[in-house]
Amino acid sequence: MIGDTSMLQTPDLPPSLNHTQATCGDDGESRAHATEQEFLGFATDETSATARGAAMFGVSPDQFCNWRWHMRRQVTTASESPVALAPEEQDGFASLGSMFNAGITPYYTALMQTDPSVPCPIRLQALPRSEELTDPLGRKDPLDEVPHSPVREVVQVYPDRVAFCVAQLCPVYCRYCFRKRRDDEDGLHFNRRIVDEGIRYIASNPAIRDVLITGGDPFIASDDAIDQLLQRIRAIPHVEIIRFGTRTPVTLPYRVTTKLASILKKYHPVFVNTHFNCAEEITPEAAKAVANLVDHGIPVGNQSVLLKGVNDTPEAMLLLLRNLLKIRVRPYYLFHPHLVEGTAHLRVPVSKGLKIMKSLRGNITGLGIPTYIVDTPSGKVPMMPNHVLMEDGDDLILEDVRGQIWREIGINQP
Ligand code: SF4
Repeated sequence: MIGDTSMLQTPDLPPSLNHTQATCGDDGESRAHATEQEFLGFATDETSATARGAAMFGVSPDQFCNWRWHMRRQVTTASESPVALAPEEQDGFASLGSMFNAGITPYYTALMQTDPSVPCPIRLQALPRSEELTDPLGRKDPLDEVPHSPVREVVQVYPDRVAFCVAQLCPVYCRYCFRKRRDDEDGLHFNRRIVDEGIRYIASNPAIRDVLITGGDPFIASDDAIDQLLQRIRAIPHVEIIRFGTRTPVTLPYRVTTKLASILKKYHPVFVNTHFNCAEEITPEAAKAVANLVDHGIPVGNQSVLLKGVNDTPEAMLLLLRNLLKIRVRPYYLFHPHLVEGTAHLRVPVSKGLKIMKSLRGNITGLGIPTYIVDTPSGKVPMMPNHVLMEDGDDLILEDVRGQIWREIGINQP
């Protein structure tokens, strides 16, 4: 717990969240809610996540399209879950609450298979499981972010850029998150003292050209709070680009309103990286959230994590990448799972990741192929399938994308 828990203005954060002291006023909520009506049309399709979710949670579609309601109604215990739970999931809720937050938006819950015996990549990412208690390798801070923070919540690995972790709350607490360590530090969300200190650090370091605003999820703040933060960062002359890391298009698309996108647009160049892990997450609602951003000139990239049972087959990965392109999201990184505590059951070997990467080339445009990354405390290491079999004088012996051997004559000539 840190001493000063005063907040940057977040007038429309829900008041009953565990981790923060918000000042939500009724006026602010209804005013902001009006902007979310743009998602209401999805409810007319009874197969949509909006219609199914509203029925599942017994609320009106209008309520279901209100992002603040989702943050108040996160599924945090087994008894709150409208979907039946497997014994491992029930045990997970019972035994993990004090170790890592469980919290799932009703929207994301509505994407789950309701039968716990059916394999489901959504359930695996969001529902706690008893396997999280057995992980001999996992670490609390696998990227050593704390020692790489010159001031609180500013992570700097490279001289020209920083990750500025202004947020602590998330719509869904992903079971594999490498920032689980922040869970037990109440009061970090848009904390005024931390934000002020971070901005002072960025302003006093002219080498910093690129600020990644992340968390937690930075879109879980009011429009005004995001606007003010951007205003302050954009006022720093040496900051060239501003990026956001947010999973809201995936876990709470109703948050990504036209109004929010129009605020971001004022501070261009602004980029958004989101985090789809499987094709099941690419719903019409998610596509609309992305479209709101892209239509305001904000390029949207995607960072996935390679996860067992979620996307660890060539077929699942290819479907994800093809569907991302269809909604105008550029696949950017595929992260090898971090060695974060409680995630052994979701990890896969690098050899599997390389095999998947090899399978992509030739089956999807290069635009749709992310860079496969092992993230280390000293930076990102790209992992590439090897297509160079040997050097033979000035020739290279290559394996092409179809697995055929090819001699490229003279390519190595000085
Ligand atoms: S949304 Fe991002 S920061 Fe939040 S729990 Fe998931 S991976 Fe972690």
